[in-house]
Amino acid sequence: MSKKIVVAIDGFSSCGKSTMAKELARTSGYIYVDTGAMYRAVSLYCIENGLMTDTDMDVHELEKQMPNMHISFQSSIEGKTEVYLNGENVESKIRTLAVANGASRVSTLGFVRRELVRQQQLMGLQKGIVMDGRDIGTVVFPNAELKIFLTAAPEIRAQRRFAEMTEKGENQSFEDVLANVIERDDRDVNRAESPLRKAEDAIEIDNSTITLDEQRQILKTLFDQKVL
Ligand code: C5P
Repeated sequence: MSKKIVVAIDGFSSCGKSTMAKELARTSGYIYVDTGAMYRAVSLYCIENGLMTDTDMDVHELEKQMPNMHISFQSSIEGKTEVYLNGENVESKIRTLAVANGASRVSTLGFVRRELVRQQQLMGLQKGIVMDGRDIGTVVFPNAELKIFLTAAPEIRAQRRFAEMTEKGENQSFEDVLANVIERDDRDVNRAESPLRKAEDAIEIDNSTITLDEQRQILKTLFDQKVL
């Protein structure tokens, strides 16, 4: 029997980390954890409870209310992993641009990161897990057996995101989506708490010009090398 490992997939927003991570989890029988969804759930809580506006965030109140947030994952009937906030399925609510932007803001706060990292580390205790985010290979699982750092040019990521949103009927201009991608990159890379960076032992894959199938092949080879 092959051994179970931890797979950490980090990288910029909208470069296809979750597509890659979900597929690997499905084909290897691993659990998939979308850590971005956890930061998004905190952002949604802040927006719905008046702790955050476009310009302000009540950090003190957020810290006080952090223990009131219970974030969990459950499988849908179709086998999709969906995120729950205090018992409510918030999977579709957290996928808006406003919530994404708020997630990038709450993720700069040390007490938010410490609590979510603690929960993520518990989820990985049994191994057999694929986790994607920004700090998985550097902070959450520095000893992960396989670390991938995924990148793509900002314009390409914005184009993919724009196509996805248009398909869902969301009315955003390409310029707004690109500006959002660039703003979130900047915040992820420049924040003081666990900034986004490639772990020294992570393998970088730039998927600007490779096909999904080529990416799949590269990942499968790397994964097989680690587990067989
Ligand atoms: O990956 P996703 O776009 O859903 O993440 C939402 C936001 O949460 C990101 O913009 C990023 O700032 C933050 N995040 C983080 N650390 C993680 C996962 C996400 O800071 N591990």
